[in-house]
Amino acid sequence: MAANDRKFIVFIGPPGSGKGTQAQIIRERLGLPQVATGDLFRYNLKNNTELGLLAKQYMDAGELVPNEVTIRMVEERLSREDCAKGAILDGFPRNLKQAVALDKMLAPYGGVTVAPLFEVDDDVVVERISGRRICRQCGAVYHVKFNPPKRDSICDVCGGELYQRDDDRPETVKTRLFVYYKQTAPIIGYYFCRGILEDINAMQPMEDVTRALLDVLAKYGIR
Ligand code: ADP
Ligand code: ADP
Ligand code: ZN
Repeated sequence: MAANDRKFIVFIGPPGSGKGTQAQIIRERLGLPQVATGDLFRYNLKNNTELGLLAKQYMDAGELVPNEVTIRMVEERLSREDCAKGAILDGFPRNLKQAVALDKMLAPYGGVTVAPLFEVDDDVVVERISGRRICRQCGAVYHVKFNPPKRDSICDVCGGELYQRDDDRPETVKTRLFVYYKQTAPIIGYYFCRGILEDINAMQPMEDVTRALLDVLAKYGIR
C-alpha cells in the first residue's frame, strides 16, 4: 500500500461528546483501529504499570497527563501492525504541542486526513457523562438512559461488569470541560486552517451522528 493511502482520523470534542461511542461503531466497518489515549491510560492503570500510576494522578484531577509520556505512548501505539492502514485517534491530540508532535509522526504518511469536530452544548455533556458506564473488560460504552445495556450493569458484548469512571464525578467534569476549552479547543483552529476540520452535530441520536460522520469521511475517501 502506498504510504499516503493511510487514513488518520482525529476526533475532536469535549468529554462526553460521543467520540468513543462513534469510534466503536465505525472502526470495524472502516477497518481502522481506535486509538484512544484515555483507554490506553486506563489499561495501563489496570495492569499497574508505572505509566498507569503516573497518569492516574492527572486523570483523577481532570488534568492532562504530561505531553512527553502521552506523545511517546501514542507514537508506540501507531507503530504497531494494526495501524498499517491508519487509525481513528480518539482523545489525541489534546493540545497544540501534541498536534505538532502528531504531524511529525504522520509526516511520512501524508499527515492527518480529516478532523471531525463533535459539537455539543455543555449541559448535554454533563448529562451524558453523569450516566456513562464502561465495561471493565472490553471498554464498551453505555449510558443508563440513552444507551442502556440489555441486562442491568452487564456488558452486551462480553458479559463484563459495567462501572462508572472515577473521573466522571460532577466536580471533575467541570475541570475537564475547562481544560478542554482552554487547552484542546485551540487545535480546532489548527485543523480549520488546513481545510480538514469538519463540524458534526453530535447532539443528535447516536445513529444520526454515525450517518453524518460516515458522510463526511466518505468525502475524504474513507469508507
Ligand atoms: P473523555 O472520553 O471523557 O474525553 P478520555 O478517556 O479521553 O476522556 O480521557 C480521560 C483522561 O485521560 C483525561 O481527562 C486526561 O487526564 C487523560 N488523557 C486522555 N487523553 C489525553 C491526552 N491526549 N493528553 C493528556 N491527557 C490525556
Ligand atoms: P467521549 O468519548 O467523547 O467522552 P462517549 O462516547 O463516552 O464520549 O459518550 C459519553 C456518554 O454519552 C456515554 O454514556 C454514551 O453512551 C452517551 N452518548 C454517546 N453518544 C450519544 C448520543 N448521540 N446521544 C445520547 N447519548 C450519547
Ligand atoms: Zn464488555
